[in-house]
Amino acid sequence: MQDIGNLTVLRPKLYFEMKFILTILLTSLCLNLQAQTPHTHIPDRAIDFPNVPGYLTLKSDLHQHSVFSDGNVWPNIRIQEALRDDLDVVSMTEHLEYLPHKADIPLPDRNRAHEIAVKAARNTDLIVVLGSEITRSMPPGHANAIFIKDANKLVMDDSVAVFKEAHEQGAFIFWNHPNWTPQASDGIARLTPMHQDLIAKGYLNGIEVVNDITYSEEALQIALDNNLTIMGTSDIHDLIDWQFDVPNGGHRPITLIFAKERTEASIKEALFAGRTAVWFNETLIGRANMLTPLIKASVTIEEEAVYQTTSRGITQVLNVSFTNNSDASFMLYNKSGYTFHANDDVIILEPHSITTLQVKTKTQQTEIELKFTVLNAVIAPDAHPDLVWHIKVKAQEGK
Ligand code: ZN
Repeated sequence: MQDIGNLTVLRPKLYFEMKFILTILLTSLCLNLQAQTPHTHIPDRAIDFPNVPGYLTLKSDLHQHSVFSDGNVWPNIRIQEALRDDLDVVSMTEHLEYLPHKADIPLPDRNRAHEIAVKAARNTDLIVVLGSEITRSMPPGHANAIFIKDANKLVMDDSVAVFKEAHEQGAFIFWNHPNWTPQASDGIARLTPMHQDLIAKGYLNGIEVVNDITYSEEALQIALDNNLTIMGTSDIHDLIDWQFDVPNGGHRPITLIFAKERTEASIKEALFAGRTAVWFNETLIGRANMLTPLIKASVTIEEEAVYQTTSRGITQVLNVSFTNNSDASFMLYNKSGYTFHANDDVIILEPHSITTLQVKTKTQQTEIELKFTVLNAVIAPDAHPDLVWHIKVKAQEGK
């Protein structure tokens, strides 16, 4: 009875000890599995694009609001968001004429939001440029003037005089959301005679093709027809994370600026020269002369491709690996004349990934050409760039 009794007492103790050891073992096994198994991919939020030949690829959001106009955060929050997104340049573009918080926040100095933002960005390498939003009914609607010298001097009644003053301060000025339904009820951006006049005078230098969660194909056409710089901005009023679902892998719209140097002067030069591209959701928008080098820098191929081999020797199926070094995904449509061993005609290169395409060349080649249309890159309304890659084949000996 006693033995049995002891055993009875021992059994639960042993059971708990074994359960404890088992739990530790299982936990460490799970941790190991977690480390080895790729989980649902939520990319690092720091936005990442490679430089292009001759230029740095700088990331900007040049249309943002704080409590100093109709936004709902203090300017330092805008800086913290920008640092998390790893932006290079931002601007606080408070409305000059629309100040709903004025009863609580009087504004004797229209440069104040910028000053607070500059202070918040101290000891970081984020560039903050002075800007303001000219806020008028149509025409001319809303426009951002950035690289101004003094926002206070832009407070005036005359709609054209304010553009002139900003221009004389050296500003780069772009038309905001020309597709905004309160000012264009059909969502179609249209140039008015006043806009044509502003463009002719050099008072309007760019146009938002993307604003917040909207895209305007018509604005893109206006940009191309009138030599305006293509812009995309968040026009954020609340929080970037909430508006663009950053915790689930979303991102704010940004303008990529292709600048010679990482300085305010160089950024301004690039904007006036029209060297930009916009990243909006899964789409890249820009002139072909900038978008093509950006895609070429983002998607690289290994130096030499290799034919697959079987027990019978070398096949005519060539492995070609594409490395996507950017945060954008690329949707490629095959125009090469070859078919693939494991893909249809549409190939998606996920951000920061390697995709191996098995190309059926029918006969052994020493070099092949692959041509694709990049479906989610836009160079004009209904136009997508074609990209060609020349691939060298590594010399292989058969069995
Ligand atoms: Zn705005």
